Amino acid sequence: MESVTAPEPTGASVRLRPEIAALPPYRQGRPAPADGYKLSSNENPFPPLPGVVAAVAASANEINRYPDATALTLREKLADRYGVSADEVLVGVGSVSLLAQFIAAAAGPGDEVVYSWRSFEAYPGLVTVAGATSVVVGNRDDHGHDLEAMAAAVTDRTRVAIVCSPNNPTGVIVTAAEFEAFMARVPRDLLVLLDEAYIEFVRDEASVDGRTLIGRHPNLVMLRTFSKAYGLAGLRVGYAIGPVPILDAAHSTAIPLGVTGTATAAALASLEPAAEAELLERVGVIAARRDRLRDALVAQGWPVPQAQGNFVWLPTGDATADVAERLFEAGLVTRAFPPDGIRVSVGEEESVDTLLRILGELVPASQEGHHA
Ligand SMILES: *Cc1c(COP(=O)(O)O)cnc(C)c1O
Repeated sequence: MESVTAPEPTGASVRLRPEIAALPPYRQGRPAPADGYKLSSNENPFPPLPGVVAAVAASANEINRYPDATALTLREKLADRYGVSADEVLVGVGSVSLLAQFIAAAAGPGDEVVYSWRSFEAYPGLVTVAGATSVVVGNRDDHGHDLEAMAAAVTDRTRVAIVCSPNNPTGVIVTAAEFEAFMARVPRDLLVLLDEAYIEFVRDEASVDGRTLIGRHPNLVMLRTFSKAYGLAGLRVGYAIGPVPILDAAHSTAIPLGVTGTATAAALASLEPAAEAELLERVGVIAARRDRLRDALVAQGWPVPQAQGNFVWLPTGDATADVAERLFEAGLVTRAFPPDGIRVSVGEEESVDTLLRILGELVPASQEGHHA
């Protein structure tokens, strides 16, 4: 008679990769209360433009078909704008997907990926999923990237370096001069990913701008997204511009057909001159609101670093959870990164008054009177 073994009663009935099983399970952030504001995901507070909604609605008539596998129409449009060929543009399911694709294309077990920390919270998981190892370099005291230390951390095992400007969650830019010096110092066969998810919000003229570097480095790829400035976070579409062989490799590591026809239709509609002008005007409104918010916080005594994205960083240290809770009680959902600080998105105008009222009551004692 055959012996029948009962299956394991736990979830551990299959052999998972240990480094994956050890990753913290994803927990959705708290939704904003009905009369509150969601300032936790750096979303655009403006509703979609009617023309974009119309393009999305029209795309519904074709959902029985698979999308174009390479989003050629959108690539051509972007290629035209950036003065490159369509083969030098890769469209992805948001730039998070593109980051995953490039990392998987270049780094595997035994390889290293260098980035600054604290930076975008997705980086560590993407590196681990690729089987590679993260090498993190602490931010400078001003919360910007320490590019000299990052260059010094590159070894013959390093396959990718990620530079995020403006840095999420701290808001600090990398300057063009700093970036040039970094590119001159790292090996020409090291893939450098310049993550510019917030470039449209930058008003500091010293900032690096990937657009001015196109064609100048055989190892540089620039990543941009429609999620933030263009307000399409829910549709998942971003793009990379860089050398064709690197983009071809990153196309190979993508899950096929992820970019939907609806997403490309919305992106194309957003690039129509009238629509884009309106979207960029909104970006201007948010950038101005950000500057007012940061100036007011600094005047209250908060040591908020330079803020060039659509968010501000509060270095709350050990008080992070308490401050985030107080904001939540006032209807403001923010993103807390204990024990470092809190990232607050620049959202609806009405959220700013509440924010300043609550934070005005919570200025850290050590900061009071240190008005910069
Ligand atoms: C939001 C963000 C992205 C892009 O997100 P997608 O919605 O996937 O395009 C990429 N990098 C950083 C640093 C971000 O904050």
